[in-house]
Amino acid sequence: MAITEQQVRSIVEQVVSKMIPEHEAVTDKSVTEKSTEPLNQTGTYSEMDKLIDAAEEAQRELIGMTLEKRKQIIQNIRDFVIQNMDTLCRMAVDETGLGNIRDKRIKNWLAAMKTPGVEDLEPYSYTDDYGLTLIERAPYGVIGSITPCTNPTETLICNGIGMIAGGNAVIFNPHPAAKETSNYLISLFNRAVMKAEGPPNLLSAVSDPTIESAQAMMKHPKISMIVVTGGPAVVRAAMQSEKKVIAAGPGNPPVVVDETADIDKAGRDIVNGAGLDNNIVCICEKEVLSVSSITDSLKEAMKKYGAYELNPSQTDKVTQLVISDPGRPRHEGAPNKKFVGKDASFIAERIGIKVSADTKILTCEVDRDHPLVWTEQLMPVIPIVRMNNADEAIDFAVQCEHEFKHTASIHSKNIDRLSRMAKVMNCSLFVKNGPNYAGLGYEGAGFTSFTIASPTGEGITRARTFTRERRCALIGHFRIV
Ligand code: NAD
Repeated sequence: MAITEQQVRSIVEQVVSKMIPEHEAVTDKSVTEKSTEPLNQTGTYSEMDKLIDAAEEAQRELIGMTLEKRKQIIQNIRDFVIQNMDTLCRMAVDETGLGNIRDKRIKNWLAAMKTPGVEDLEPYSYTDDYGLTLIERAPYGVIGSITPCTNPTETLICNGIGMIAGGNAVIFNPHPAAKETSNYLISLFNRAVMKAEGPPNLLSAVSDPTIESAQAMMKHPKISMIVVTGGPAVVRAAMQSEKKVIAAGPGNPPVVVDETADIDKAGRDIVNGAGLDNNIVCICEKEVLSVSSITDSLKEAMKKYGAYELNPSQTDKVTQLVISDPGRPRHEGAPNKKFVGKDASFIAERIGIKVSADTKILTCEVDRDHPLVWTEQLMPVIPIVRMNNADEAIDFAVQCEHEFKHTASIHSKNIDRLSRMAKVMNCSLFVKNGPNYAGLGYEGAGFTSFTIASPTGEGITRARTFTRERRCALIGHFRIV
């Protein structure tokens, strides 16, 4: 028996409400107001040099502390995020104008609870006739982290936890369009660290971040590693810095559906996956490549679970509205920022159609050279391209992903196709028969991250990504058997 849209929604609500316990919020109104507190109270400051000196001192203190202390600091950060969930989500939506509060709760829950901590730094050893060799993971020092407006709190939480788990201090240069939310979160981090009697300014931020302050950070001699999470421009800038760089760049994830798939489930997964936070997450499904024989049934399934199908003239109007630089082969293009992360109903209204407020995505059938296919829109407008067969769809997926090697997915029961697409896409994240967010650990196994480093190859980043590997060889007498 097919599950109704109402039932799906109620199941998701139940899952989310179980995942996010209702704590009494510990928000303190004073921390949301523009801070005039000294550096060591809020963790935000305008002067880069002062910020970096304070972070250096904090990092020195951290590495003198026990791993237990590090674990306690991280646990407090997780708790503070969960306890202040509503405020964080509301501030992020209000300030950036992107996404929706309900899905931000899911994303922030994931970041707080499924980001690996100190346990990810597992040491290992070799023993033989010569003795014992030990491998451990050491910090870099002070890391500069440049973060996006699309996941304004989630990226700070994930990077913050992973980086201090690795023994580093972090200076964030948040997106200017999310600075108030970021400053608030940084003040929470500092309270969490200090509650565990950890060093102040372990996690700090440029209080008035700009592209210029991000670039100054990339060049600063006391920053040991740069981690950027954002679009093509910041990735290019970071790659020119003469430091160790971890770059998490743009994606344009295709999803292939073939004739062997469970079409009803594929339709539901695509609508839920592509609809997450109005599609602003880089891993969300962004174009559907479907085998022609099942395309009509797939569209019906998608409509059943919350998609609204645009007709050809509505598709033209939406395209005019939302694309500012059309993507094409070897050119990623750009969306009209005014519509990034907006609700499907908001975008529909701009072209004179009224759809219900709970419509998750707008969808439309287009040709394969259409700009909606080739541009990373970051909004709930999801094109469907009809393909002759699964192999053709898989080969086309490689092209329209621009070889970012970021994320792709397939719905199929044919193991040869599942396997072939995983190989040819060569992506940091590949999902089989599920919504793409399952690959970030939501309704899927494994840990999460909101920094997916495809250009530099680290993939789904974690605490160990932010460490240097060190080896110590102890010669003679150290085997115990
Ligand atoms: P954005 O590139 O506009 O901004 C990201 C950060 O980079 C901001 O802090 C911004 O101030 C800074 N920045 C931008 N240009 C810069 C430059 N030339 N020099 C120095 N700093 C610069 O991105 P956004 O709109 O905030 O986020 C959306 C983009 O980020 C999408 O392309 C999305 O796919 C990508 N993204 C990727 C990941 C990932 O894990 N791979 C995660 C989130 C977002």
